[in-house]
Amino acid sequence: MRRSTRSFISKAFVVVALGVLAGCASTPVTCPSPDYSPVIASLTAADLALLDSVPRNNMARGERAASLLGSAACDSTSSTAIKSSNQFNYECVIAGMMPARIVIGAHYDKVWQGQGVIDNWTGIVVLQMLAHWFAAHPPVHTMVFVAFGEEEPGMIGSRDYVRQRGVDNVAAMVNIDTLGIGPLTIDSRSDEALACRAREAAAASGVETRSNALRESVSDWEPFDRRGVPILNFHSLDARSLRLLHSSRDRRSNLIDARLEEAARGILNAVIYLDRSAENIVER
Ligand SMILES: [Zn+2]
Repeated sequence: MRRSTRSFISKAFVVVALGVLAGCASTPVTCPSPDYSPVIASLTAADLALLDSVPRNNMARGERAASLLGSAACDSTSSTAIKSSNQFNYECVIAGMMPARIVIGAHYDKVWQGQGVIDNWTGIVVLQMLAHWFAAHPPVHTMVFVAFGEEEPGMIGSRDYVRQRGVDNVAAMVNIDTLGIGPLTIDSRSDEALACRAREAAAASGVETRSNALRESVSDWEPFDRRGVPILNFHSLDARSLRLLHSSRDRRSNLIDARLEEAARGILNAVIYLDRSAENIVER
């Protein structure tokens, strides 16, 4: 199992290296560079301070995530109980010029081991930063920011969300899970058209990304992928750092702030680019 994972990852690195050398033209997907100035914004000191006092209890984490999202000027917010759970999915919608939606998700729940700072308060901090940014810079697509509960037991919250809301009009799903312990990484199971744009946009903002697929890990992108929604999954893991998760080593002191700031900037630029690629993301 471990061996085959390693060989897959090394193959993925070779593919990525070739892709970088040849540009995206080597793939069948057309991937133009963004034709606008990259945004240099990233996390503020106040955003980073959110990582210093992370609630340990999942219900308290959910409430904190909801209040962080709600402090962006969302056009609407909602909290929806997850079936057979005391946790909720929390949503902040920022209306765009078109009804087609881009769902951007991060889970707030943690396993019992560790502080759950890396997995996945880093995702929540970046999610609320994106919501604040798009509230101040109105998007083309309708942006739906979701803090999911119950990811760790098997994407129960995101599966319930997809079951309740459906995926009509969802042009793309962007998932953020576990940043700040390595370079910004685009899971190679992501939709190639989205991944290519994300790489270009991140690079234009000075953030180099890598790509790999950690077969033994899944996240809230999976229920959307199953329903045929193009997905883009961001993390910062490789086979070695994966061992840090779900352990006492998931704590603030193991988070690399510079990596997290870089990831936030890269993801912000990637999402802006996806939002402006309206002609390339087919309305479903
Ligand atoms: Zn996670």
